[in-house]
Amino acid sequence: MSYRFGKTSTARLCSCHPDLQTIFNEVIKVMDCTIVCGHRNEADQQAAYNAKPQLSKVQYPNSNHNTYPSLAVDVAPYDATIRNIDWGDTNRFYYFAGRVMEVARRLREEGKILHDLRWGGDWDRDTEVDDQTFIDLPHYELVGEFILPRD
Ligand SMILES: [Zn+2]
Repeated sequence: MSYRFGKTSTARLCSCHPDLQTIFNEVIKVMDCTIVCGHRNEADQQAAYNAKPQLSKVQYPNSNHNTYPSLAVDVAPYDATIRNIDWGDTNRFYYFAGRVMEVARRLREEGKILHDLRWGGDWDRDTEVDDQTFIDLPHYELVGEFILPRD
């Protein structure tokens, strides 16, 4: 089974750092998913901060979504049955994240990306998921010394 991003997901992913694009263009081959958010400008960040439930704990420009290209991306597994994202199916988010992190680890090992990946369900990257104070299941961000592309 192979999947492809739709137009909206593709546009959102294009606002992200090349490493995030490389990772999720690889992930989409094995598991269908939707790019919920890439870069957030000031208005988008304020809206995410003010949303109930709150989508971001920080205000502009302190989110990793606020750089351009974005150093963070929010991605959700796509549910073919309901033809949408099933936000209540948190188990599936955990399953998805395990696959994403493995893809990222492999790409890093192969030298195809320059940064490690951190997931919002395991901030300290110890693979334990029950020691989080803030859980952000769709959130993935790059860690390390950031190398941004030049134009
Ligand atoms: Zn996020």
